[in-house]
Amino acid sequence: MGSINTTCAYCGVGCGVTAQVTGARSVEISGDASHPANKGALCSKGTHLGETVGLQDRLLHPMIGESRVTWDRAINEVAQAMGECIETHGPDSVAFYVSGQLLTEDYYVANKLMKGFVGSGNIDTNSRLCMASAVAAHNRAFGEDIVPCTYEDLDHADLILLVGSNTAWCHPVIWQRIERAREQSGTKLVVIDPRRTETAERADLHIPVAPDGDVALFDALLATQDVDQAAVSRTCEVPDGFWERPSADHGLEPALFAQLAGLVAGAERMVTLFSQGANQSRSGTDKGNAIINLHLATGHINRRGAGPFSITGQPNAMGGREVGGLANTLACHLGFADDERAVVADFWGTDRLTKGPGLKAVDLFEAVHSGAIKFVWVMATNPAVSMPNAARVREALARCETVVVSDVLEDTDTGRLARVRLPALAWGEKDGTVTNSDRIVSRQRALFSGPGEARADWRIVCDVARAMGHTEAFDFPTNASVFREYASMTRLAAESGKKLDLTDWAQASDAAYEAMEPFRWGGDHPLASGASTPSGKPRLVALSAPPPATAQSGFPFRLNTGRYRDQWHTMTRTGYSPRLAHHRREPLLEIHPDDARAHGVFDGDLCEVSTQQGASVFRASLSEGQQRGALFVPMHWTDITASSAAGRTGKLASSDTDPVSGQPGFKDAPARLRRVETAWRGFLVSRSPLKLDACDYWVRSRVEGGWLYELAGLAAIDFVSLLPEGERSEVAYPSKGMQRYAMCNQRGELEAALFVTRKGDLPARDWVAGQLGARVEDPIELLAGRPRVAGPERGALVCVCHDIDALEIGRVITAGAGSVAAIGSACRAGTNCGSCRPELARMLEEWDDEIKEAAE
Ligand code: SF4
Repeated sequence: MGSINTTCAYCGVGCGVTAQVTGARSVEISGDASHPANKGALCSKGTHLGETVGLQDRLLHPMIGESRVTWDRAINEVAQAMGECIETHGPDSVAFYVSGQLLTEDYYVANKLMKGFVGSGNIDTNSRLCMASAVAAHNRAFGEDIVPCTYEDLDHADLILLVGSNTAWCHPVIWQRIERAREQSGTKLVVIDPRRTETAERADLHIPVAPDGDVALFDALLATQDVDQAAVSRTCEVPDGFWERPSADHGLEPALFAQLAGLVAGAERMVTLFSQGANQSRSGTDKGNAIINLHLATGHINRRGAGPFSITGQPNAMGGREVGGLANTLACHLGFADDERAVVADFWGTDRLTKGPGLKAVDLFEAVHSGAIKFVWVMATNPAVSMPNAARVREALARCETVVVSDVLEDTDTGRLARVRLPALAWGEKDGTVTNSDRIVSRQRALFSGPGEARADWRIVCDVARAMGHTEAFDFPTNASVFREYASMTRLAAESGKKLDLTDWAQASDAAYEAMEPFRWGGDHPLASGASTPSGKPRLVALSAPPPATAQSGFPFRLNTGRYRDQWHTMTRTGYSPRLAHHRREPLLEIHPDDARAHGVFDGDLCEVSTQQGASVFRASLSEGQQRGALFVPMHWTDITASSAAGRTGKLASSDTDPVSGQPGFKDAPARLRRVETAWRGFLVSRSPLKLDACDYWVRSRVEGGWLYELAGLAAIDFVSLLPEGERSEVAYPSKGMQRYAMCNQRGELEAALFVTRKGDLPARDWVAGQLGARVEDPIELLAGRPRVAGPERGALVCVCHDIDALEIGRVITAGAGSVAAIGSACRAGTNCGSCRPELARMLEEWDDEIKEAAE
């Protein structure tokens, strides 16, 4: 098979991927040099997509309860349950909760079914958790959900502001582009973020804004700029009294603020990238508008190198927004006004069109909890983990009459609560289109046929719709026919004065659809010809900064949440890659050393973090990058990858939402901390997944040929009961509370090994994990946890792509490599995806500091 151009499965950068299928389920991945989003670059996640295409743990057949059923039975069950619910309790008693992982074709038919034929607005997407605030800000300012610039503008800006974005980790290919612009054109970079992240460390200026202090900061920044108010009034709608408002208190040191204001005043072309740090907030929409206000008033918009730029988290968050995946848009950027409803009803040929918007994600699950929604269909997402106040969402799903889950995996936290599970296609099998953050529509193409009985999501939805009697409206023979209908429907948007227009594709043949090259709708600067407001002018929005949060009694910390560089969402895909697991094997609680000291916490201790919503345990990692009084935890761990007490961020997050966008404020919950006193700790490597309910704390990560579990317990347990059957070797030093076991199969190959201690040291994991599946010739050597003849010493893995560890990089620096590029030339570290380049730069700085210290 030749190479196939497709699109990455992960973030909204939307990188083009060239896939060379090399076997039944194997593929070599490289960046697609012709794709405008990435021009051949990929990050660590995209580079290692090939490690995630196996069939392990896949859901292969439709299931009702624990019984395998035919597709006909499953489809009829779903159609009947939904139909009965509508008949008895009305259309608003049913809901769909969908995902930015869906393709545009999937999204289109799901939205058409719910809003057009069920007659309810109750379809919302997990994009609500990601960038609904940016959508609302766009609508307020531009009259349409439009990103007014492109990645190319980053190449031409002389100042880039990053707001609430750890771009180096979360959008690494954009980060590479920013790095290039800085190297080649001297572009200045400012990072506005309460945390000193890897991205902030590399900036020209880091602004440690207070949590939710962005509105005050941007408002105050605008007040410092030399704005021609009369000219702005001619090009923008300006609310009365806008310029006379008192300047907000930004709380920054005056000198730091003046430095920022000077950079903005001196910029000729400024791009502001904003992401989840801005959006996931109770004032997220206002933050978006504060940023847009600054750009509109200072003219940094609608020209090359300038614009306010919301970057999305998910591969097809934008596609979902376009077709109407959010509960508060109808379809194709149209709303619920009578004239817009009329044209949509006419286009779809329905007399059941929803009368208004549906419930947004948090309210939707609250309605499931209260029993108002009795049927919910979850597609390609895991709300039992990822929603805020996740324990309540679990409760809601557990008490719901009918929960249907379409997923690729047999076992997910949400799937455990479903009555009907439907096997869907995964990345590499799916076929359709996605839209990235800068409005490029690309094809995601199938590399393999679907396993078992798995079906495309769009087909499953159409099957259910037809079983409910909507035969003609859902008679789509192919994904191309769905796309043509969607493209044709964008005519309604264009006729309503919107910019979204894909009508050139309305008549495309199947062959043309198959051969589609990436294209951008709306051009580079779609608002240059006017906004989508009735006046054609964009709007400045008068804002008031939220009052600073007051400390809550008993909750002295403010909890922030986010992502790791090499993991994606709930790790249902990246969790299968041994190399991606290297970066962070456990969920870490980042805490300032002063706070740790005050709470008696040492690096590596287990700590329980509690909020008003719940509690969970993380391993402490002391970090000067945290502000005092602030904590940070990652979002990725689930029931499948950790014990129920460990690493659960959704359980902690508050479900308070932004009043305009309905997006939850994941970044700021009052929290407290308690060190957990454990009786023992250890690790276990195993060729197959194990049930470890006896351990109070376990966290699983992938290694070559098996799994690595980090373990801890509050009291002694029978350790042997944790191990699989087999031939056992063991050693113990009771005085140190040390016990070590190796379990081999009949061929003498290592199946599992367990190392525990009460207070001693544990060996390095990598060598022990590397013995899985190998014949154990010398059990004593294995139980020692290191080879008798030492191999070359290895440090922590830094460059995942080229397998280069910290010790090797240290040797290269010692030998004279004085820049990231020089390290790359000497040992290749950082030369592929570039995700480790911030870490390399930090190692160089630390080395410089050591030299200086030695010289003094
Ligand atoms: Fe995929 Fe990385 Fe590109 Fe995002 S930046 S689309 S995760 S390769």
